[in-house]
Amino acid sequence: MKFRTKSIHAGQGPEALYGAVMTPIYQTSTFAFNSPDDPGEFDYSRSGNPTRKALEECLAALENGTRGFTFATGMAATATCMMLYGTGDHIIVSDECYGGTYRLMMDIIKNKGIEVELVDLNDLEALDAAIRPETKLIWIESPTNPLMKIVDLEAIATIAQAKGVHTAVDNTFLSPYFQNPLDLGIDIVMHSMTKYINGHSDVVMGGLVVKDAELAERIYFLQNALGTCPGPQDCFLVLRGVKTLALRMEAHQENGLAIAKFLEAHPKIEKVLHPGLESHPQRELQRKQARGDCGTFSFYISNGIKGAHALLANLTLFPQAVSLGGVESLIEHPWSMTHVAMPESARIEMGIVENLIRVSVGIEDIEDLLADFEAALTHV
Ligand SMILES: *Cc1c(COP(=O)(O)O)cnc(C)c1O
Repeated sequence: MKFRTKSIHAGQGPEALYGAVMTPIYQTSTFAFNSPDDPGEFDYSRSGNPTRKALEECLAALENGTRGFTFATGMAATATCMMLYGTGDHIIVSDECYGGTYRLMMDIIKNKGIEVELVDLNDLEALDAAIRPETKLIWIESPTNPLMKIVDLEAIATIAQAKGVHTAVDNTFLSPYFQNPLDLGIDIVMHSMTKYINGHSDVVMGGLVVKDAELAERIYFLQNALGTCPGPQDCFLVLRGVKTLALRMEAHQENGLAIAKFLEAHPKIEKVLHPGLESHPQRELQRKQARGDCGTFSFYISNGIKGAHALLANLTLFPQAVSLGGVESLIEHPWSMTHVAMPESARIEMGIVENLIRVSVGIEDIEDLLADFEAALTHV
């Protein structure tokens, strides 16, 4: 099956009892056993729930994996994944990662006897040198958030496989519509399904997808033992959202690129970071491993923090909000919003400076979005 068909049919189908075409919300904590030694397929909603199962099967199909797992949030997915590792293990984390991932790794995982090392994953020699016998995992993001650097997933998978190290990719930005890391040799795909997969900014949820059966069993054990799963109502909403993922991603890509080109030509913008632009140094790598670009990207505005604040204050169609990937446009200031959990020195070292702005371009009419930017930029 192809992508759009999978997003509408995988894991879903008329339900057996009444033939409901849409997967019902099985809003129940527990399920009656047939007899004390025969629980039936479901027994308790932490261990499994039919609405969640439909979504997990759909997610696995979209990422070309064998099993998918959903979690209360993206961070719950990442935290559950980290429970695969323990005292004495060494893990390598992209030195440019989502702010919440950075906080989880540096403030929690590091204090549990796991050594966390931040590495620039664009430097493959440095990565190779950082791997040691205790290394168990390389945690990757591509494109990186918010600087839109592209990491060579196939090259890293090859290096890791030769040394028996797991690789995990946070695929939130591109969604399975534009990038499938498992096809490039990656072991684990993580999603904040809060973003493009749900696409309507009304649910927080996370996901993990794998191909390997043993890894799948270990993740299932953790999902049940830790109790990090989502509820059935949220699974229903995400199942509804995922059906239009392909259509939405095409619209996000088109609008995002149009705004990126407009900004790149504007005298009040210093630089635009968008992997679809000719000016992006890793445009070719992105074209090689991904099928397109999402609607989220970043840019540097002139006039420092004053310029950034003036733009945000004068846009009318772009609420100032963290998060991304919804049908509505959003704009944010990483320095003071999404990346504030990161120490100031680490932000500056990464390039997250005061005049950096990240935008999540929605699927509104492009003429209205461009006019809004044009007008707001006169105040900068
Ligand atoms: C939002 C986000 C997360 C965390 O997901 P939550 O659903 O907010 O917990 C992780 N990675 C990336 C790239 C994100 O954008």
